[in-house]
Amino acid sequence: MAELQIKNLHVTAADKQILKGVDLHVRPGEFHALMGPNGSGKSTLANVIMGHPNYEVTEGEILFNGEDITEADPDERARAGLFMAFQYPVAIPGVTVAKYLRMVMNAHREGRGEPSISLKDFRKTVEAAMELTKVPKEFSSRYLNEGFSGGEKKRMEMLQLALTKPALAVLDETDSGLDIDALNTVAAAVNTVSQETGMGVLIITHYQRILHIVQPQFVHIMFEGRIVKEGGPELVAVLEEKGYGWIGEEVAAAA
Ligand code: ADP
Ligand code: MG
Ligand code: MG
Repeated sequence: MAELQIKNLHVTAADKQILKGVDLHVRPGEFHALMGPNGSGKSTLANVIMGHPNYEVTEGEILFNGEDITEADPDERARAGLFMAFQYPVAIPGVTVAKYLRMVMNAHREGRGEPSISLKDFRKTVEAAMELTKVPKEFSSRYLNEGFSGGEKKRMEMLQLALTKPALAVLDETDSGLDIDALNTVAAAVNTVSQETGMGVLIITHYQRILHIVQPQFVHIMFEGRIVKEGGPELVAVLEEKGYGWIGEEVAAAA
């Protein structure tokens, strides 16, 4: 089980200040939603949590299990149990799904000091994960993300989630453009893994749909690089009804 603590995080990219003092605390097993209008800095926060090289932390820190990971490599973070599902997953030419998954699993095992998985155990584990994430068996011989539909990319990511069982999953707009079946797959994978392992979740979205099936206990609203409002699931209903306009007005009135 793992805990993510973000303290007073200031981030720039290409000399532009994007995050202006973000605090966020995800305790083990908690589900948090990060919402907010386009361009408010949500993806920047997700990228910085994963150690994306285009972003510079100019102030503040990120702790994972009490350890300062502000400057850690993306690899190190993944081995520590952080998982990120991307808004736009990349294709890796020439690598099949099965090969990729085995590489990913073995990298995780190596990080924990465990031996590589046997082919037999790998097959069994993948079959179970494929069933959970409703990925058809033929899928394993396809090339990673090549010609995948939006829904297939998401199923692939959830398959990876179910196989690596991370301590904390960051899902950045993993719901955009998904039909209801694909959404349900995402929800089933996230909910099942969390029930099994106590995985925490930070789900970034500006749609409310997915929050009805992956239910956050905490909702944070980002606006112009800051978290300006926090609450429980009731905030989702308020946003559904009123949109984001009133948030800007509130911030302006408080300034
Ligand atoms: P959101 O995910 O909430 O839509 P982003 O984090 O993607 O917001 O973007 C926040 C702001 O930061 C936007 O104005 C965007 O153009 C800018 N931004 C994000 N990444 C970069 C980057 N690598 N270089 C320059 N500007 C960036
Ligand atoms: Mg965006
Ligand atoms: Mg974004």
